Amino acid sequence: MTNVEIKNLSDKYVMGTYKRNPIALVKGKGVKVWDADGKEYLDLLAGIAVCSLGHSNPKVVAAIRKQAGILGHTSNLYYNEIQALVAETLVKNSFADKVFFCNSGAEANEAAIKLARRYAFEKMDGRYELITMENSFHGRTLATITATGQKKFQLGFEPLPDGFKYVPFNDAAALEAAISDKTCGVMLEPIQAEGGVNIPAPGYLRAVREICDSKGLLLILDEVQTGMGRTGSLFAYEQFGIKPDIMTLAKALGNGFPVGAMLATDPVASVLVPGTHASTFGGNYLAMSACLASLDCLLNDGVLENCRAAGEHFLKKLRGLKRKHKSISEVRGMGLIVAVDTSADCFEIVGKCLEKGLLVNCTSATTLRFVPPLTIRKSEINKAVGILDEVFSEL
Ligand SMILES: *Cc1c(COP(=O)(O)O)cnc(C)c1O
Repeated sequence: MTNVEIKNLSDKYVMGTYKRNPIALVKGKGVKVWDADGKEYLDLLAGIAVCSLGHSNPKVVAAIRKQAGILGHTSNLYYNEIQALVAETLVKNSFADKVFFCNSGAEANEAAIKLARRYAFEKMDGRYELITMENSFHGRTLATITATGQKKFQLGFEPLPDGFKYVPFNDAAALEAAISDKTCGVMLEPIQAEGGVNIPAPGYLRAVREICDSKGLLLILDEVQTGMGRTGSLFAYEQFGIKPDIMTLAKALGNGFPVGAMLATDPVASVLVPGTHASTFGGNYLAMSACLASLDCLLNDGVLENCRAAGEHFLKKLRGLKRKHKSISEVRGMGLIVAVDTSADCFEIVGKCLEKGLLVNCTSATTLRFVPPLTIRKSEINKAVGILDEVFSEL
């Protein structure tokens, strides 16, 4: 089918929850993807920070292919060697002692919220309230849109679950002031991703950790987007000199295979005894084979080093663009989560880039966000910045 045929079929039968670009991508290799009409694109969105090791990564493809021919799914009523190995790898490379597996970011955050509530129920004298951040994003289930401090995601879905309170990001004093005798924890993204790549001020996350310690609160970090190497370290928290009590992962965890995880320290995780939480698909053989191969790549194939070098190169090039184009007001990023603020219409920019063979997106009408595969080469970044330069010149 052609792009148009696929679009028409889709518009007829698939619920209209997405505003889509008018193409269907049918093939990918590394940072390149092709649409149904055969046009090639450089992909600086990577399925929204998911395909971090490149499309059709050979190691991940081989692992899924092999596992699909052996055993795909057994449920969690039986042990699973690959699941145990993925959990071991995550634990040995993080603050955590235990891992719970699920299938998406929202589910990982649901699990984290349930863990915090259950822990508070048993150990914190019935506290239940979580403080989250304005402009955050934690997912689309009822609890996670409530954790998400943005009205537009909540409108029309009330009544929302009780027990969430919002404070401005980057404001430790506001956080401290919001704590009540019902508060059990604080949940935030180390870098607000969907909120526009908001990087915390120096010392902010350490102040949040100290407030949690002094008030006996749980610190939950949503690393669904910042985790798995995106910022240049395996997890973003490593670069801010703190450790959470609970952390959530998804997006790049399986390089495109749908999988999520919630990690915690032993004292916290211990309250989730048999029967308290579960997932039929969570951590199944296919998903875990994708995760194990992705972790192998990420930890052993120089991906983090490439991310740091490519990220610096990308920022340098974008700062060059900023000097040239007055409509660019700010460039910021960490590793390969990068944003450009502009007075121009971002939706128009996204459309023009698409026409010129570059996939990007915007988190708002004024912020372009770039989350390419962490394996991107400097030559590919140069090509992408060349296209952006043309687009900004034409505005
Ligand atoms: C994408 C995202 C989520 C939601 O993940 P889904 O897999 O879409 O449910 C949650 N938190 C953050 C920080 C995200 O970027």
